[in-house]
Amino acid sequence: MIRAICRCMLLISALCLAVPLAQASPLAAQLFGQHAQPSRAAPMPHGSYARGCADGLVALPDTGPSWQVMRPSRNRAWGHPEMIALLKELSEFAQTLGWAGLYIGDISQPRGGPMASGHASHQIGLDADVWLLAPRKINLSRAARENAPFQSVRSADQRSLNANWTSAHAALLQRAARDPRVDRIFITPPAKIALCKAATLSDRDWLQKIRPYYGHDAHFHIRLKCPAGADTCQPQTPTVDTLSQGGDGCDASLQWWVTDYLTKPVASAKVTNKQTDTPRPKGARALTLTDLPKTCHRVVQTP
Ligand SMILES: [Zn+2]
Repeated sequence: MIRAICRCMLLISALCLAVPLAQASPLAAQLFGQHAQPSRAAPMPHGSYARGCADGLVALPDTGPSWQVMRPSRNRAWGHPEMIALLKELSEFAQTLGWAGLYIGDISQPRGGPMASGHASHQIGLDADVWLLAPRKINLSRAARENAPFQSVRSADQRSLNANWTSAHAALLQRAARDPRVDRIFITPPAKIALCKAATLSDRDWLQKIRPYYGHDAHFHIRLKCPAGADTCQPQTPTVDTLSQGGDGCDASLQWWVTDYLTKPVASAKVTNKQTDTPRPKGARALTLTDLPKTCHRVVQTP
């Protein structure tokens, strides 16, 4: 009887301990994922691309004159106004290349923050994925946009591009990289190799912003710089200039992606900071509110 009471008390105290601990560190992805609307404060990114949140994000409309949002049920088409403006402009440019426009993938959740699935970054409204599938039409039904298969531009052995890659892709990436608002662009390494080969000798500065990255063969990822006056936005380091040692990045570090990275299991498991641009200490899904800037507590806790 006494043993039973003791066991019961132990159980109660364990429960008492467990509850405050759980309350002290809820998963940020869960909290941010509950918001269907942005905060009403002025647009402002808080923190870093992979550890932050955002105020005042605006939605890219589901369908526009030159774009469509893909996988709309995710409700991740929210971005800083600079990002929304850039995507609209880039999609107009895509039309000059003979495409119907652009298919836009994830930007951010309504208040940014970590996501329960998918990306490590995309947390402050300054990252966006653009599909590499050239749109033939931009009046796809909602169901079609939910289910449209991804289309890779990369060969099966991951060393080169396939027939889906065209000169329009190259022109689109060049245009995006030249935009002064853009910090860097992530794309499958064979695409960067192709861009390096095609660029003229005298005009290669923009190539520095094109960063090779694993995956990114069915979409490319645009990352904007912290907008002017965004004091709580943390710029990314190392910069693309540091990573490329002041050059265009068309060097041995680029070849590594289509050689050792693919052939040496140990090397590929140890993708270094220099090679990926992004340190990965803690997965986005594991982040708690206390891992994010203090401002993000207010962003997520305001109804
Ligand atoms: Zn992305």
